[in-house]
Amino acid sequence: MFTYSINFAINHFIPGVNSYYLKKNKPDFNRIAIKVGSNVITQEDGSLNDGRILRIVEDVAVLYKQGIEVILISSGAVAAGRSGVSPSKKTNVVAAKQIWAAIGQVKLMSSYQFLFGKYGIQAGQLLATKESFRDRRHYLNMKNCISAMLENHVLPIVNENDAISINELMFTDNDELSGLISSLMDCKSLIILSNVDGVYKGLPGKKETDLITRIDDKSEDLNKYITSSKSGFGRGGMLTKCSIARKIAAHGIDVFIANGKRDSIISDIVRRKDVPYTHFVANSKRETGVKKWLSHSDTFAKGAVVINEGAREALLDDKATSLLMIGITRVNGIFRSGDIVRIVDEEGNNIGIGKSQYDSKKAEQHIGEKLSKPFIHYDYMVINEKSKSALQG
Ligand code: GLU
Repeated sequence: MFTYSINFAINHFIPGVNSYYLKKNKPDFNRIAIKVGSNVITQEDGSLNDGRILRIVEDVAVLYKQGIEVILISSGAVAAGRSGVSPSKKTNVVAAKQIWAAIGQVKLMSSYQFLFGKYGIQAGQLLATKESFRDRRHYLNMKNCISAMLENHVLPIVNENDAISINELMFTDNDELSGLISSLMDCKSLIILSNVDGVYKGLPGKKETDLITRIDDKSEDLNKYITSSKSGFGRGGMLTKCSIARKIAAHGIDVFIANGKRDSIISDIVRRKDVPYTHFVANSKRETGVKKWLSHSDTFAKGAVVINEGAREALLDDKATSLLMIGITRVNGIFRSGDIVRIVDEEGNNIGIGKSQYDSKKAEQHIGEKLSKPFIHYDYMVINEKSKSALQG
């Protein structure tokens, strides 16, 4: 039955009417990250929906057999664990979640490993915490591990290590994690599977609401259309999905938000069929690895420097400019050379972020001085796009 489904899917490809759109926009699907939300693969009581997981596995297997590299980011651990154990009254909420994650992650991976095994695919687990992205060495360790898995045809399945990452150490949700992984692994596309067809101008399912099919860097602000509400077990909602999708698309990765409850949705998107989704079109300018890492590091900044008007203008200009000590008027926080530091202007606007070449003490000693060694070298700095477009009007 499994082989039959794969062959059926491969042999019955019929281009849909919308195929023209994706052919014209040419997203690249050679290496893709696919994020599966808790609401897609769990039932109402939180238990895993094995039938749905099987459909997703089938869909991924079709791509895998075509030589497309796939990295799966799957939620569902906490929900799956919840259906197995009711912690005692004296167990606090955080500990309960940790227990559920410890149980549920095993259930989740057992299902995936078993089902991928039916297709002759070896799946392996990778659990990340926010800390794994903080230090560039850890970040590269993770990259090397996933690269080695892909080279050896092991399908990486990533989740947050929910059993140990709590509160401030947590990712906002797995949408954020999928964004980080797709940018870490230089994926060409990211498909975020949720339980709705994409981003709507209003409430999904209502007649008068339309699915937005294309969003690019010139598209209007989406916040007015989207409510912050979320359904079911996942932590994320459409608001965070959209902000992650825009950020990732700005790094040159095409992002699709689509409905994981639709059979063969992944291969339909890859084959440019006429299916519903919202496409966040990739910016043609691809960032370097270091800059991608930096742009995800704002929550790890150890301090900030305030810059004067001249430095502000120079940085926001499109030319490659490093931040010199002469442009700095104040140093906030305690940091070491090599730490991530935020750059703000005199009005407190966030101008960018970068890796400092001075520790905070030395930086304070040399405020406003004309030194040749930049405080942040251009190659290790990311400028906030919003501030740049505000300056350019
Ligand atoms: N990592 C969580 C889990 O596996 C899900 C987080 C989210 O909902 O995005 O349950």
